[in-house]
Amino acid sequence: MVLPRIPYTAPFPAPTIHPPQATTLPAAISALTHFLTHHNKTLLLSGAGISVASGLPDYRGIAGTYRLHQHYRPIFFHEFTSHHKSRQRYWARSFLGWPATAAARPNTAHAAVKQLWRLGVLSGVVTQNVDSLHGYGGGMEVVELHGKLREVVCLQCRHTLPRGEFQQVLEQLNPVWKKLQVNRVTTNPDGDVDAPGVDYAEFRYPPCPKCLEEHPRSLRVDQDGALVEQGKKDVTGVLKPCVTFFGENVEAEVKERAEQLVDDAAAILVVGSSLATYSAWRLVREASRRGKGVGIVNLGGVRGEEEFFGRDAKGMRIRLEVNAGDVLKGVVEELGGKVDAPVEREPLDKDRRELGLGG
Ligand SMILES: [Zn+2]
Repeated sequence: MVLPRIPYTAPFPAPTIHPPQATTLPAAISALTHFLTHHNKTLLLSGAGISVASGLPDYRGIAGTYRLHQHYRPIFFHEFTSHHKSRQRYWARSFLGWPATAAARPNTAHAAVKQLWRLGVLSGVVTQNVDSLHGYGGGMEVVELHGKLREVVCLQCRHTLPRGEFQQVLEQLNPVWKKLQVNRVTTNPDGDVDAPGVDYAEFRYPPCPKCLEEHPRSLRVDQDGALVEQGKKDVTGVLKPCVTFFGENVEAEVKERAEQLVDDAAAILVVGSSLATYSAWRLVREASRRGKGVGIVNLGGVRGEEEFFGRDAKGMRIRLEVNAGDVLKGVVEELGGKVDAPVEREPLDKDRRELGLGG
């Protein structure tokens, strides 16, 4: 499966709220509580909208357009694998964007999701996000459909290392860039940034340490150990973030596991996603076609949602346009649980270690 070149940029039509009275927060909480307790085994599918309250920008505004970054154009897989220049540009921007990404913490919505899982109404989470803010541990399964920024992977030998560790090497190789103020640039949800007026051609990045050790002669590096221009399409020792780029296949195992979770669930609940990427949309379409419950909580329209709410739709349907954190927290409380504000500390420290940021 290949991601579309760039997801829809035209606005999606405004949603029709369902049930019709669920336009207020209390009514939305009541409708979602009913939806979750009715199915008792709902798979949650989250998108960038759930992380906005953590300070990470959404790709698209409420109208479903690239409101925040109209000129933003993501890197394509073939560019990254073919050109040293493209990799320099990608890593330079990623270098500047990483501190803000690494500093982002789970918000109320993430905490509420965890509680809903503990309360037994959620069967798991599939996320389109690469920010790892759903956290780990505690037994809740989180399938990261488009990968994770917290790791980098070698395109040749698949060796992985923590992004935090990689960042430290980038810092050593690029002292001038280290001085660039992160607040002078804008960050995109994939950790990339817009940085006008800087010369990417001077940015240096290291090779995979394992490839360097095993094939020292097939890798060309400078005096400080930074990778220099390799033969075209030669990806020996080339490290890439563990995220799915546009034009790249979603990992087969990940795709299969997500499908399995849809299979096992009685319903699917979309939170904070306009389902612009096909890999996410098709999971919801599959659930819908099989008569499972479909719920959508999103500010703004969703790709092809009329298909899920049409006259032929089988299974329970809800469509809410309310703040994700507010409504999920409300449901947890309705079910007798509690969402600690703002976030739980314990998993965070663990997340920090996994991000390579130290305890
Ligand atoms: Zn390698």
